[in-house]
Amino acid sequence: MSLTLADARIVTPAGVHEGWLTIEDGRITHVGHGSAPGPGLSVGGRYVVPGFVDIHNHGGAGGSFPTGDLGKARDAVALHRRHGTTTTVASLVTDPLDSLTRAASALAELCEEGLLAGIHFEGPYIAKARCGAHDPTLLREPSPRELAELLKAGRGHVRMVTIAAELPGALDTIRMAVGEGVIAAIGHSDADYEQTIAGIEAGASVATHLYNAMPPLGHRAPGPVAALLDDERVTVELINDGVHVHPAMLRLAYEVAGPGRTVLITDAMSATGLGDGDYLLGSMRVRVDDGVARLVEGGSIAGSTLTMDVAFRRSVREVGMSLPDAVQVASLTPARVLGLADRIGSIAVGKAADLVVLSAALEVDGVMKDGVWTTEP
Ligand SMILES: [Zn+2]
Repeated sequence: MSLTLADARIVTPAGVHEGWLTIEDGRITHVGHGSAPGPGLSVGGRYVVPGFVDIHNHGGAGGSFPTGDLGKARDAVALHRRHGTTTTVASLVTDPLDSLTRAASALAELCEEGLLAGIHFEGPYIAKARCGAHDPTLLREPSPRELAELLKAGRGHVRMVTIAAELPGALDTIRMAVGEGVIAAIGHSDADYEQTIAGIEAGASVATHLYNAMPPLGHRAPGPVAALLDDERVTVELINDGVHVHPAMLRLAYEVAGPGRTVLITDAMSATGLGDGDYLLGSMRVRVDDGVARLVEGGSIAGSTLTMDVAFRRSVREVGMSLPDAVQVASLTPARVLGLADRIGSIAVGKAADLVVLSAALEVDGVMKDGVWTTEP
């Protein structure tokens, strides 16, 4: 079956052009300029961008990924799909080891179905002083042996683990993760500059939500922010919701890291798509007020209610990124982090037809996954 989308403004990392594209068997088979050579579905001059890739997401639509109810996890994926995310990594907050093992094993099933692109353990190997919305009583010292058990439970689908580089055992655990093909991310960390560099030298290649849950940038104490931004081996996650990071600081990070080392994430929690009220993040009680999720105890920001379309739009409007750069930080760079850039992340011949149709105001009008509309434009 073949489908041509015509009269499109196609956004690639190289630029924006008016043209058309053909999809066969779920893949992009032609991308052309100008008028389509045959009959096609006109998208009426709207933008067509690659589906968004969210590598840090805890849930939505009332569902969290560490859940006994896979139906709820499916609802969360579907909610984010409606907002243009075609590839999702499920992030797990800190829980007791047996709960994490069960969650990883359950979510592996959704990875095997192709609904999720992997699992991310955001805890328990993080710093008490920077634990944010993670339960401080459940944190643990990083241990390669213990992580091996967690990876086993995920049946090869654990893609990332966040580790505070300064903790005892952190460097060995980072080396072990990377040796197993798992991305080591530095975050929820109280590390200084040198400790962060040691983590990068051990193989860490991602900054878990840069700025959030780590010491701030200081001119005599550069800390993890400077170490992570300054190193070409590291890709930095940013939560672009206007709450987690001031737009000026976000712009500053982006100016240093550029579109090739910056990824937009949602860090979304279960309240996403539902509105204000009381929710749980892991075992922690969270109140959402005016779209901002905070712990009931202590008031730490507790994940976001962000969706990738909003993060994308803000990147263009508030941060000043060009459309080609915005698709890079929302799709291609996170796809590269996951090792999937040969299959997804941009509009190119041979890649999966994971596409989003955006209005002139950059609102989501249509979403396609593997050549099938999940939202008709
Ligand atoms: Zn998170």
